[in-house]
Amino acid sequence: MSEYYLGIDLGGTKILTGLGDGEGNILASSRRDTQAEMGEKHVINNIFKTVEDVLKKAGIATGHIKALGIGSPGPLDIKNGIIVENSNLPWKKVHIVEIIENKFNIKTVLENDANAAALAEKWFGAGRDVDDMVYLTISTGIGGGSVIKKELFSGYSNNACEIGHTVIDPNGPLCGCGNHGCLESFASGKSISRMAKEAVKSKQSDLILELADGDMDKIDAAVCAEAARKGDKTAAEIFSTTGFYLGIGLGNVVNIFNPQLIVLGGGVMKASDLFLDKALEVMHQNALDASLSVLEVKKAELGDKIGLMGALAVAMKERLIKNG
Ligand SMILES: [Zn+2]
Repeated sequence: MSEYYLGIDLGGTKILTGLGDGEGNILASSRRDTQAEMGEKHVINNIFKTVEDVLKKAGIATGHIKALGIGSPGPLDIKNGIIVENSNLPWKKVHIVEIIENKFNIKTVLENDANAAALAEKWFGAGRDVDDMVYLTISTGIGGGSVIKKELFSGYSNNACEIGHTVIDPNGPLCGCGNHGCLESFASGKSISRMAKEAVKSKQSDLILELADGDMDKIDAAVCAEAARKGDKTAAEIFSTTGFYLGIGLGNVVNIFNPQLIVLGGGVMKASDLFLDKALEVMHQNALDASLSVLEVKKAELGDKIGLMGALAVAMKERLIKNG
């Protein structure tokens, strides 16, 4: 008989739940708005409804589900199955694993979303042929996860691989974590948007503002990318700066992990034509040859499916390692 798994991609604006088979195929899915503003009970009820929807669509009873994985932004207490805090959700210390297990009687595993994504790319995406890889998501912020000898490397209390918060320049811009000059404050969607707004304010670019319909709040990495592609030199320079700092960050990753593969994902990678060459050039200048000579860098393959595939990979991880 086939094995079935459930995955829940828990986000601040949407909850995406899916049923997968033992090979990582998604058989059914259900998406609902998180409705964070309605409070904790309401959000949990929405999670329940997505699970019920999926089981109904697939015609499968809870007794046939081997495990359920949840991918969530942190900070998390993974050992105790608790979402400690979530800046996008109105709750603190939610015992999510216990709540789900009590409701559905399915073994439930919680994992941070970047680690879950790393597992998904390892088993079903760009990393399927390697045993050692580091995954970086370059989106609003920068997250990371690493897989070593096929297993997730989580650190002693599951906080490893916060690559976005490694300091590149202590005199750099203030980061959301309170430090100055983290990689995230130099090479993320947020930092691209900050630099683009500064360029508009100092009158270095009119096109960026024009493409944002004259609205400073609409200036983001995508608008800046569009300006760069239309020939705006300042916008192109912002991406070159982003590539420079990302390259320093990647060089550090190479020297720390000596991975077989680095996989780059996240929304900002849609503009990778504007910064990736620079990043790789700087990475090569900064990392040691012994590690560079065995390294490959690839783009993530799972695209928009990564959140759900990550949650499913978390549910399946014991099986994957056993059969991998
Ligand atoms: Zn930081």
